Amino acid sequence: MLRGLYVHIPFCRTRCHYCHFVTTAELSPVLRERFFIALKHEIHEARRRYGSLCFDTLYLGGGTPSCLSIAEMTDLWETVHAHFKVKEGSEVTCEWNPGDGDEEKLAALAALGINRISLGAQSFQDSILKRLGRRYLVKDIFSSVEKIRTAGISNISLDLMLRVPGQKFEDFHHSLETCLALQASQVSLYDLEVHPQTVFGKLQGQGRLHLPGEEEHAGMYQDAIKVLTGAGYEHYEISNFSKAGFASRHNLIYWRNQEYLGLGPGAFSYLNGMRYQFAEGLDRYLQKCEGAVWRNDQQDVLSDAEKETETLMTGLRLREGIALSEFPKISGSILKRVKELCDEELLEEKTGKVRFTDRGKFLSESVFGFLLQKDGIS
Ligand code: SF4
Repeated sequence: MLRGLYVHIPFCRTRCHYCHFVTTAELSPVLRERFFIALKHEIHEARRRYGSLCFDTLYLGGGTPSCLSIAEMTDLWETVHAHFKVKEGSEVTCEWNPGDGDEEKLAALAALGINRISLGAQSFQDSILKRLGRRYLVKDIFSSVEKIRTAGISNISLDLMLRVPGQKFEDFHHSLETCLALQASQVSLYDLEVHPQTVFGKLQGQGRLHLPGEEEHAGMYQDAIKVLTGAGYEHYEISNFSKAGFASRHNLIYWRNQEYLGLGPGAFSYLNGMRYQFAEGLDRYLQKCEGAVWRNDQQDVLSDAEKETETLMTGLRLREGIALSEFPKISGSILKRVKELCDEELLEEKTGKVRFTDRGKFLSESVFGFLLQKDGIS
């Protein structure tokens, strides 16, 4: 059983038009200082509660960790390592926005031990980046990849977005080909989700947001499978493709329903059978840490059947699939639905394991909804 550590950095230089994450574009030194003091309190509290936990992966996400200064990153690194053990040889990822940071910062991070960068490329068309409210150009993605490699970090994962307003099949295909040309170790696909409080949410409310249709969207997804697997990438999770040996170890912890500690505003943790969120938003997080109010905002202690249901749902996302025999407590109605989905060729059972078919992968959200219909958890 592996265990991961996630640290959420809630700062971005600007807000993207679709962003609903816990992040702020207010970068005042006072707020940053408050945040880092609060984070140290939370780390200290986690150490008091759990002892010196040992982690197999560390993931700095956000927000935009790449907007931290070298001094902030070093201080965070030292605090984490003073309170917990991060195993030798761990995968240590930092999310990075193209255009952020120079060679000096990347070299400093590599020297600290960061060995994987998740680069939020999203698209290789300037017009689409502008539409998304991203603050860089395609040339900045290329130059970031070059700087990351020069710093000695060779494990680079690229994010690409589908279902962007105005995005055409050819645009997406070109982005896929560019990921290959850049020799990304992993390509992660994200469907644009529209949330009400975002710029896109407001446009949608006014009837002014036009997303690609379902057929076009499905065509892009199938193209990703064809292009990336054709180039030797393993389609190891519904939305993730990696070169052999480069599947994200941290994300595999989530998909295998193993333990993780999440620090920072909005972060979730799953430890000792309990899933919880300490604080939902940044203001609340600061107030709670400053007042030493350590009660969680949300928490669920999972029953054995609930744990099995979650493990089945997350495990189904993986190419390796799941062996139904390993789920003795799962409800009969879920098993019955799994069989129905196999009959409809959305899932398939091979060598004792159930997994998605390619058609099922595209319809995965509906499949999960069907599996979890209200009598799903016994
Ligand atoms: S970079 Fe990511 S977290 Fe920051 S505003 Fe854009 S989508 Fe949100």
